Amino acid sequence: MLDQIRVVLINTSHPGNIGAAARAMKTMGLQDLVLVDPKGYEDGKPSAETYEIAEARSSGATDVFEQAKVVATLEEATADCGVVFGASARSRSLPWPLMHPRKASSKAVEAMRANNRIALVFGRERTGLTNEELAQCHVHVHIPTNPDYASLNVAAAVQVLTYEMRMAVLDAQDQLDAAYDGTWGVNWDHELANQGELNSFFTHLESTLVDIEFLDPNNPKQLMPKLRRLFQRAAPDKVEINILRGVLKMMGRAQKSDASERVASQAASSSDLNKE
Ligand code: SAH
Repeated sequence: MLDQIRVVLINTSHPGNIGAAARAMKTMGLQDLVLVDPKGYEDGKPSAETYEIAEARSSGATDVFEQAKVVATLEEATADCGVVFGASARSRSLPWPLMHPRKASSKAVEAMRANNRIALVFGRERTGLTNEELAQCHVHVHIPTNPDYASLNVAAAVQVLTYEMRMAVLDAQDQLDAAYDGTWGVNWDHELANQGELNSFFTHLESTLVDIEFLDPNNPKQLMPKLRRLFQRAAPDKVEINILRGVLKMMGRAQKSDASERVASQAASSSDLNKE
C-alpha cells in the first residue's frame, strides 16, 4: 500500500529540503517523489550544487531524490492519482474539505484499498500552496500546529504526514498492535503469572505482612484488595512473581532470626539479673 503514496513538492527553493523530504519519505517506506518545477534544476536534472546540497541532507536516502520525477505542473504530477491531499498551514477564504493528518490517512487507506494512487502535495517554503493549487486537491490537510506559529518546515511537514500514513497503513494491515503491544504477555519474554500463582503469592504476601505486623488480622481494612489491585494492574509474569516470592521468603527469614535474637538477648539479660 505504501507504494501507492506519492509525495509532490511544488517549486521547492532549497535543495536541502528536497533531500530532507527524501529522507523523511524513506524512513516511512515511501519512494515515489515528484518535484514540480524545483529551483536549481535544469532540463529535469539538478545542478551540481543542488545535487550536493540535497544529497548531504538526504543522509543516505539518495535513491529517493535521484529517482524523483521532475515535472512542470501540478496537473502532470497528479494525473494518475485518485485522491489528492494538499497540505497547507493556512485557512482559506473559500473553505475546502478540511482534515487533520490522522483522518486524512484513514481516508487515504480507504482509497488505496480500492486500488487508487494517492498524492500528498506540499507547497513552497515561503508562500505555500496557491488557492488554485489547493483547488486541485480533494482535501486540505492541516497539521494542528500552534495557531500563533503554524508553519512547519516543508520536510518536517512531509515527515508528519507520511508518518501518519504509515501508521494507518500498518494498522490496516494488522501490523501495528501485533508488533507494539507490550502488555498482557504480548511480545514479552515470559508468560504471565496465572491466577493460581497470583493467589499463592497473595497468600504468602498476606502472611508476611501479618508477621512483620504491618497487617493487623483483626483489623485488615482494605489492605489486601488494594495490594491485589496494584499487582494485577502490573500484570506480572512468572519470573517477576518468583522474584517477589523470593523477597517474601527472605523477609520471613530475617523476621525469624530477628525474633530469636530478641529471645536470646532477653534470656541473657534475665540470667545477668539472676546473678546479682
Ligand atoms: N508561509 C507558508 C508556509 C509554507 S511551509 C504558508 O503560509 O503557507 C511549506 C509547506 O509545508 C506548506 O505549503 C505545507 O505544504 C507544509 N506545511 C507547513 N506547515 C503545515 C501545517 N501546519 N499543516 C499542513 N501543512 C503544512
